[in-house]
Amino acid sequence: MRAPMAVPHLLEGASRHQRCHPAKEKDMVKIDLPRERAADWKEAMLKKMAEVLEKYHSVRLFMDICVKCGACADKCQFFLGTGDPKNMPVARADLFRKVYKRYFTLGGKIWGRTHEAEELSDSILQDWYTYFYQCSECRRCSVFCPYGIDTAEITMAAREIMAAAGIATKYVTEVVAKVYDTGNNLGIWPPAWKDNCAFLEEDLKDTEGLDLKFPVDAVGAEVLLIPPSADNFVNTNTMIGYAKMFHAAGISWTTSTYCNEGGNFGLFLNYANLKKVNNRILEAARDLKVRKVYWGE
Ligand code: SF4
Ligand code: SF4
Repeated sequence: MRAPMAVPHLLEGASRHQRCHPAKEKDMVKIDLPRERAADWKEAMLKKMAEVLEKYHSVRLFMDICVKCGACADKCQFFLGTGDPKNMPVARADLFRKVYKRYFTLGGKIWGRTHEAEELSDSILQDWYTYFYQCSECRRCSVFCPYGIDTAEITMAAREIMAAAGIATKYVTEVVAKVYDTGNNLGIWPPAWKDNCAFLEEDLKDTEGLDLKFPVDAVGAEVLLIPPSADNFVNTNTMIGYAKMFHAAGISWTTSTYCNEGGNFGLFLNYANLKKVNNRILEAARDLKVRKVYWGE
């Protein structure tokens, strides 16, 4: 039997300096976000926060019902790995909660800090940017919360709010922008996708003597396959596996050069891009007139 993982000593600020690179203007423009941090970022964030609280009642509920029992505190791998107390899920959520209390609760408006409420300031924004981008939205903590508070949803809301003011990370925005340019996260342009498929056909013939097709943009197939794009480029054995499976099952299939990505990085950015990336699957399915979509990541 394994001993439980030791809870680390608290190391205040241990991961404060581990911050994601900021988004580039060229990517922000492609994904319909302000090209840089807005001059009125504070107003923009509070306006979006009001929208989020109105639209996603769960977030408001999570703000109000935490009893600070600490059951989630040692469940986050980012806290266990760094010892930084702000990576405890409850503390991460508190970064959001103190702003929520200040602007959206009566107690916070009247009593301020004595009600654990704080003005949205540049230093709070720095903490939001650092620690909400040190959450992988894995939802492990929510499994242990007796109230079902889902810190991943709070993280998503915080990123949504920051994005509205032109604040996001290079990694996430670059990947989403690549989807709009090329159809996938890795930036594989259509000719390269087709070329890789042709290569796999030849490879399979040479190595196994099998004459299987890897169809691309075939109209009227039964299935549109949306694989992770890495399967076309790196994990090619998986791509070969799909072809063998469809062949054995006698199912006609195709991939699409418009949408060939099973992973949606909109999840890590904001709801608008999450939906837009997902919609590309439907658009591709309609354009290619398929009957089913097989989609995996
Ligand atoms: S387990 Fe739930 S109620 Fe307890 S501190 Fe964490 S988020 Fe709050
Ligand atoms: S959802 Fe975020 S805060 Fe919760 S355990 Fe996962 S990484 Fe940590």
